[in-house]
Amino acid sequence: MMMIQTLAGPLIALSNAPAKSDLDEIRVLPNPPLVKLTLDDIHVRRCRLAGDRVDAHGGCFRTADLDKLLRLAHGAPALIGHDRRSPAVARFFGGSIESFQGGRYIVPKFYWPRHHSAAEDLRWQIDTGILSEASLAFTFEQATCSICSRDIRECEHEIGKDYDGKVCFYYYDGVERVLEGSFVYRGAEPGTGFLHSRILAGGAPAKRLDTLTLKIGGRIYHALPSENEILLRNIS
Ligand SMILES: [Zn+2]
Repeated sequence: MMMIQTLAGPLIALSNAPAKSDLDEIRVLPNPPLVKLTLDDIHVRRCRLAGDRVDAHGGCFRTADLDKLLRLAHGAPALIGHDRRSPAVARFFGGSIESFQGGRYIVPKFYWPRHHSAAEDLRWQIDTGILSEASLAFTFEQATCSICSRDIRECEHEIGKDYDGKVCFYYYDGVERVLEGSFVYRGAEPGTGFLHSRILAGGAPAKRLDTLTLKIGGRIYHALPSENEILLRNIS
């Protein structure tokens, strides 16, 4: 079953003013804008999301997968506070892989229309640090244990525990899709661990999901079905 995890990181300013190259990247988005945008039509900012350093979930990307991840983020919509009932406010595009504190991170850009009635409110919320982080949901196939290279849900190693001087973490392997992103308030990211999606499991709801328990990194989780996904609660 495909797993969903979130990348989280701070919103950051552009190092240069938006340029024509930004417009070129926006024009080649999947489902591109219907009108020819100019630089006067959009605001652009960036966000530094997770990379090849171990994140708060105990997971990390392989450096070689970062390019693919950035490519997958290209075109993802951004919501506010993960509220899927409200329309998206911005869209991720382009960006780069950048070094930060000894690691490599994906830094996608995002744009939103200047002439939207709420555009200035969003700009102020972002630029004054009220909305301070972005999180992007992605799917991956396997959480590979850094100690034994098996699926960490099946091995005996525990995330964060020391094994002969090596602290256990896992790799996000088989990264497949980037879903929607969200702008969130600092600390709002719940960090509830993995979400398993029924939709991504091929459309057919898995059987007996309401009684499913899973072991992830030595902890036991109960799967709680919700509208489109299943929330895992740590019960160990
Ligand atoms: Zn292991």
